[in-house]
Amino acid sequence: MATTDTALADELVATVRKWVADVVIPKASDFEHADEYPEPFVEQMKAFGLFGSRIPEEHGGLELDTLTYARLMEELAYGWMSLAGVLNTHTIAANLIERFGTDDQKARWLPGMATGNPRAAFSLSEPDAGSDTQAITCKAVRDGDVYVLNGTKMWVTNGERAGLVALAARTPEGITCFIVEKEPGSSFEGIATSRRIPKLGYKGLETVEMTYTDHRVPVANVLGGEAGLGHGLHYILGSLELGRINIAARAVGVARAAYDASMRYAHERHTFGVPIHQHQAIQFKLADMATKLEASRLLVRSAAEKFEAGERADVEAGMAKLFCSETAFELATEAMRIHGGYGYTSEFPVERYFRDAPLMIIGEGTNEIQRIVIARGLLRRWTESHPA
Ligand SMILES: Cc1cc2nc3c(=O)[nH]c(=O)nc-3n(C[C@H](O)[C@H](O)[C@H](O)COP(=O)(O)OP(=O)(O)OC[C@H]3O[C@@H](n4cnc5c(N)ncnc54)[C@H](O)[C@@H]3O)c2cc1C
Repeated sequence: MATTDTALADELVATVRKWVADVVIPKASDFEHADEYPEPFVEQMKAFGLFGSRIPEEHGGLELDTLTYARLMEELAYGWMSLAGVLNTHTIAANLIERFGTDDQKARWLPGMATGNPRAAFSLSEPDAGSDTQAITCKAVRDGDVYVLNGTKMWVTNGERAGLVALAARTPEGITCFIVEKEPGSSFEGIATSRRIPKLGYKGLETVEMTYTDHRVPVANVLGGEAGLGHGLHYILGSLELGRINIAARAVGVARAAYDASMRYAHERHTFGVPIHQHQAIQFKLADMATKLEASRLLVRSAAEKFEAGERADVEAGMAKLFCSETAFELATEAMRIHGGYGYTSEFPVERYFRDAPLMIIGEGTNEIQRIVIARGLLRRWTESHPA
């Protein structure tokens, strides 16, 4: 599908939406509370072709346009935010290879990635380097036809199950992106999971700290080949625009779930002889929630269209990520309040939305960093359109 085909795109979104309603939602809380990897869901996501959502058809993917991809992420997150998380780092890694890899690298990795075998992780952050990406210390030293990798990487989502890791490390030329190959599992020749990070939400899938000790990566695995040396951060920041659109779309999914749960409960719950939706205080909450949800959707659409057109979308992706994640958190909180005491129990899914939503404020660059990105972009555009 070269995805200008809107009928096919709509059909895929509708299929995933139905699967989420029929299969995911009834089981999501069980998997989540047990912190269990949702293997059956992931297998179905493979069968839908979602691991190849953004991979070109020539490499076996669906080659979906950015907006369709965003709509799919919204549907998955509506059921359970972690499902979209299983795909996000994979898609960032695939996007890096597709945009910046050599022809050999694309032919070698993308067809497998399109099927979900292997799955991929993305590894930029370190224990002392999150927002400050320039501060990474993981080091790669050349030794003949390999690079020897040493350092610790933090917050590697899907790190254990991944067979490929798109990883940033320091080389003499600057920060370089490597595609590290490993067997899925906790350790592999110089790669160890130093710990699994316990999390407030975003359960089911693993987020780990990984330590590299004299791990040998072939020179052929430098993203972009010799020309890619020192350009890793530039490549990664380009791909984070897509990552931020993904986060924004996920946030819309969680916000929509919070809104729907609230509307449902406002009809079921009666106080003072009437359903609570008849109280103006609840109506105002629902009105504000629906308005912010609609604004969020439009911001995702605007960012996705710009990114799809091949234009620089740093401002739009930043705005979407900032607004949608704050909205998801606000709607999750409001949903909890509308549910009264029941919202504070683990018997209703709103407590999960409340625990999942804050991650989207932090991931792919915190919202403080988004404001910096947006402001810089606005100032750059102003200068370009107002030459001295
Ligand atoms: C569950 C989870 C999964 C993740 N998955 C991945 C992954 O798969 N791969 C990966 O590479 N990373 C991943 N991350 C890391 C994530 O991207 C970082 O946590 C995030 O970028 C923030 O970095 P930090 O945690 O080091 O916070 P810090 O950078 O230490 O920031 C701390 C606080 O200071 C603020 N701050 C920092 N610098 C500035 C500034 N210049 N101006 C104003 N405020 C500032 C921040 O906004 C924040 O409020 C994940 C994180 C989490 C929580």
